Amino acid sequence: MSNQSDWRFCVKCSSMFWNGDPQGLKGVCIKDGGGHDAAGFNFVIERDLPESENIQPNWRFCVKCFLMFWDGDQREKGVCAKDGREHDAEGYNFALSHTTPTSPIPDSSTRQGQWRFCPKCFSTFWNAAPLRPDGSPNKGVCAKDRQGHDPVGFNFVLSHDTNPLIQLIDESTRVQVSGQGFVPKGRVRIGYRYTTPSGFTDATDPPPIEVEPDNDGRFSGVRFNLQNGATNIRVRATDTGTSLNADGNLRS
Ligand SMILES: [Zn+2]
Ligand SMILES: [Zn+2]
Ligand SMILES: [Zn+2]
Repeated sequence: MSNQSDWRFCVKCSSMFWNGDPQGLKGVCIKDGGGHDAAGFNFVIERDLPESENIQPNWRFCVKCFLMFWDGDQREKGVCAKDGREHDAEGYNFALSHTTPTSPIPDSSTRQGQWRFCPKCFSTFWNAAPLRPDGSPNKGVCAKDRQGHDPVGFNFVLSHDTNPLIQLIDESTRVQVSGQGFVPKGRVRIGYRYTTPSGFTDATDPPPIEVEPDNDGRFSGVRFNLQNGATNIRVRATDTGTSLNADGNLRS
């Protein structure tokens, strides 16, 4: 694997943080000193790529606050919410994709733009968050001065939820479906068909099952019943947010 998932938007500070800690740690958010609070897509960030027209490397995980910050300036490393000092890089060297006039990367069902560098705190933040209740722009909260972040430089366009997967459990008279890698709080449509001794069910009979993945993009415990003697069971889960499919089969 040359990429890492579980990078998320924080609804409190608007920066991107890593939500994949095995112990469930969420870093430190400047908004309230607690952990970051994930919402929206699950971004999949590439790593170990050289600089190019559309790629900027030297983005790193800060082990103190869990934000993604730019580590490409050896004189300065921004401001960390943990202690007000510089960020502290650990782990991979990430590469963010950005659009350019001569080599545009458009937004799509699996890519979101308007991720920007803040020159005050050095984090990357989403510059398109919904307006605040008073109608003013929402630029998050910056560790440098507790005001909004400032957008400078490239418009990063980042991939999300690119690898949905399902698992099937054969429960004899029914099948249990679970999944991961879907758009968090999105909508997944699960269709299935199988062969019976008397014929073939199709995807419209019965209609597809709809489920909402949790805030980590997972769902579990979805079941459908089987007729006697069912074989060649095929299941397809379609993420309606990205239009990507995850397939599985049993008794084939
Ligand atoms: Zn935060
Ligand atoms: Zn930090
Ligand atoms: Zn900032």
